[in-house]
Amino acid sequence: MTSDDFSSARPSPRHDLEPSASATVSAGPGLGPTPVDLLRRLRARTAGDPVTHVERVPARPGVPAPWPPWAPPELRDAFARRGVAAPWRHQAEAATLAYDGGHVVVATGTASGKSMAYQLPALATLLADPRATVLYLAPTKALAADQLRAVAGLELEGVRPACYDGDTPRAEREWIRRHSRFVLTNPDMLHHGILPGHAQWSGFLRRLAYVVIDECHTYRGVFGSHVAHVLRRLRRQCARFGATPVFVLASATSGDPATAAGRLTGLPVTAVTEDASPRGGVTFALWEPPLLPPDSGASPPVPPQATGDHDDLHQVRRSALRETADLLADTVAEGVRTLAFVRSRKGAEVVAANARRALDDAVPGLGDRVAAYRGGYLREERRELERALLHGDLLGLASTNALELGVDLIGLDAVLICGYPGTRASLWQQAGRAGRSGQEALAVLVARDDPLDTYLVHHPEAIFGAPVEATVLDPANPYVLAPQLACAAVEAPLTSADLALFGDGAKEAIDELVAAGALRQRPTGWYWRHRERPEVDLRGEGGAPVCVVESATGRLLGTVDGGSSHFLLHPGAVYLHQGVSYVVDDLDLADGCALVHVEEPDWSTHARDVTDLSVVSVRSYVDAGPVGMFLGEVDVTSQVVSYQRRRIATGEVIDTRPLDLPTRELRTVAVWFTLSPQSLAAAGVQPADVPGALHAAEHAAIGLLPLMATCDRWDIGGLSTAVHPDTEAPTVFVYDGHPGGAGFAERAYGTASAWLRATRDAIAECGCEAGCPSCVQSPKCGNGNNPLSKPDAVRVLDVVLANLPA
Ligand SMILES: [Zn+2]
Ligand SMILES: [Zn+2]
Repeated sequence: MTSDDFSSARPSPRHDLEPSASATVSAGPGLGPTPVDLLRRLRARTAGDPVTHVERVPARPGVPAPWPPWAPPELRDAFARRGVAAPWRHQAEAATLAYDGGHVVVATGTASGKSMAYQLPALATLLADPRATVLYLAPTKALAADQLRAVAGLELEGVRPACYDGDTPRAEREWIRRHSRFVLTNPDMLHHGILPGHAQWSGFLRRLAYVVIDECHTYRGVFGSHVAHVLRRLRRQCARFGATPVFVLASATSGDPATAAGRLTGLPVTAVTEDASPRGGVTFALWEPPLLPPDSGASPPVPPQATGDHDDLHQVRRSALRETADLLADTVAEGVRTLAFVRSRKGAEVVAANARRALDDAVPGLGDRVAAYRGGYLREERRELERALLHGDLLGLASTNALELGVDLIGLDAVLICGYPGTRASLWQQAGRAGRSGQEALAVLVARDDPLDTYLVHHPEAIFGAPVEATVLDPANPYVLAPQLACAAVEAPLTSADLALFGDGAKEAIDELVAAGALRQRPTGWYWRHRERPEVDLRGEGGAPVCVVESATGRLLGTVDGGSSHFLLHPGAVYLHQGVSYVVDDLDLADGCALVHVEEPDWSTHARDVTDLSVVSVRSYVDAGPVGMFLGEVDVTSQVVSYQRRRIATGEVIDTRPLDLPTRELRTVAVWFTLSPQSLAAAGVQPADVPGALHAAEHAAIGLLPLMATCDRWDIGGLSTAVHPDTEAPTVFVYDGHPGGAGFAERAYGTASAWLRATRDAIAECGCEAGCPSCVQSPKCGNGNNPLSKPDAVRVLDVVLANLPA
């Protein structure tokens, strides 16, 4: 839309691009500058120094280990045929732990060969015991298909690996149940198909030796809590048939993987975390776009409709998209093969278009060597893209993270990451795209205007040190536990022996199911009373999803979870889907459907809500003098009452229109802190500034929570007030946005001082004067980011941190 003002947003004139000789010839291996030289040149071209940190991640030689003595020769030979001479040490260590009967999680980096850690013990067991079976679970069908190819490629006698999912033809299913000894599936199929049909699976389950859970860090939040109970139901059925399988899990690197894996499986799990696979060296730079001078006459920000990456708040930092486009143009001009990761599809197109224009201005025709990749291309088109990059016809590619999985690229010299991708696992996956064999590569993380990005570029230890972000789930969530117990009761009556298996809250949930008439208690246990099975969707969160339908064609564009639908799909809302702009005609809540039409108005829409919160109970608290820190249940009532239309180009408010939507209630888990008015006054916060101080602290705290737990700010809500009727004190609440809670608030409570310390530092270290989207402003604020007081937020957090035990 307004991307043509691209170059005018530069804070000061930059040198013209000076394409090096290598840009006009094919960029063969080794022709580009070294990463250190390249970075030096990129820095020199930008006014001020945007680089806050350079980490040299050294190349690491692999540490091989001998084959475990229990691995049979035919298995070693099979791996040798695939080019594996010996396992790396972490693979051998995890494999032996599992072979000896221990539950183990291997949590190491991308491409560290985690699959061999479970393939070794599982396949050795299948070869030694011709009756044994293995169940493999992946979060996606694509990954299961991938693993099927890997296992089948080993060509082992009698294993007969097979995928069993929604796509498996009926005719093949019975054969698989009877004859396959290595079944690959997903949690949804286990929940909907295998466990309800356990009688047909009894032969397989009776002999089940291993359960493999791949990419187990993806089982987080409410979905993860559901999967935790599906696994308990699996263990219960196995136990009925006399089997006690060993669980082997693979995870991305994260904080405390053993605890997360233990919560997921309900079993004691040992973690193997020391990565012994080889890796190339990377020079990793953290890059913070400069603040624009207030009188720069800066062009307006890239509109939210164009990118999905920004709200149209007053922008004081140069946008990460523009900065990334400049860097892409500069590296391509140097003849360096570069991949830029951008979070949205439209954003990737803006980056590519702007880089192309800058290159063509320097050398007409050079822009042709940059392209955008939006995901979803046909397989042939993807292969063509890979080929063009490999041969140097293309030098620069801007992509969404679809490329993380979809395209096989090797031999890139540099990776630009536009905005922190949310988790360290994704960050390293993207950075790991750089580096051809044995050569050093450059990775640059360009910070967006977001408190978490701001914090990370000023705290490199949070990226390069030991991970703190943990995979969080909460199997005790009553909204998950009760329906899962109902499913279990259909599979076999529940007995008091099952209570320990399903954990805290199981007895209460059963009592409620009895009271509701779903279960009947008999001397032998609790029985399901109905003819039909309960309908439980593992991935359903916050009420039924709302379908987005194009009125003219009846085409289903996608779904929005119930919790967000009032915000995103109210009548008149501008709704963005895969880069196309739609306007909502009607939201039918009874039918769970929103009708939209294609339209690209020159305004954006912003819903406003009113939220009320009451404390139901306190689960745990810390009494720290003038400060209190609490964890407990709360009721949140909210109503979307109006929306603003704002001019995209200027941010000017056109009008505010009322909405007639019902209130929504949410019983969930919250963390909250209180401060005495006296302690605030002593810290220099004037009474009139207390609301703005608490509100600013709340926004930043929500923005920083993803540092401690794998969530994003859209999973969490907040409320702050100068006096709350239930606490009778100035209070900041942060709550899980899902019924019953998903574990995020609990994690926040457990890491409160580290979390709020990071929040305080992110605000204090932001270079803006009065608060900006990089620190205390929030794109989802129901109050239009008003009031906010940046300096007082730091004072509030200082009082909390001074009193709270570390
Ligand atoms: Zn700021
Ligand atoms: Zn707010």
